[in-house]
Amino acid sequence: MKASDLKPFCCDYRPRYSEPFSHGEHTYATDGKLLIRVPRIVGVEQSCPVSDEDFTRAMIVAGRPPLKTDDLTKWQKAPEIKGRSFRAVCDECAADPDYEISDDCHKCHGIGVVIEWKADSYFIDIDNRRFSTHLLRKLSALPNLELSTEVGGEHDAIYLRFDGGVGVLLPMRKD
Ligand SMILES: [Zn+2]
Repeated sequence: MKASDLKPFCCDYRPRYSEPFSHGEHTYATDGKLLIRVPRIVGVEQSCPVSDEDFTRAMIVAGRPPLKTDDLTKWQKAPEIKGRSFRAVCDECAADPDYEISDDCHKCHGIGVVIEWKADSYFIDIDNRRFSTHLLRKLSALPNLELSTEVGGEHDAIYLRFDGGVGVLLPMRKD
């Protein structure tokens, strides 16, 4: 896995989580709702943005040591998220107060229209926990993604595993 593969799992609007970071033998990406861990990627030198203690605490799921997945036995395939593609006005160009489609636009390349994708539902329930379809769709880029709801309750994160790494995903509130 390359650093650029992890970039989609970083947070656009929290500077300290806007890039993957390395800690010990691993490289991580997080947006605050999900966290992905892979073996340390050479070249990702940014260090953990929070203290060791805070980081460890944040990753403990249902009282378990951080990202301990080897004793979990119940894994399921990540659900397929259904949705549809549609054409939309390029918001990058439209953000310009004197709206004009720009040939230099990195998003639409001067066409003014982009193809967007929208899930049919904002959330999906898996074993009594509710998850954002937006995040699950993003995670589906990870090869052979599986989930485990084996530990914890409806407010606890679930574990993820995929070829080459593990992670956690927080559920949404149901109310
Ligand atoms: Zn554009």
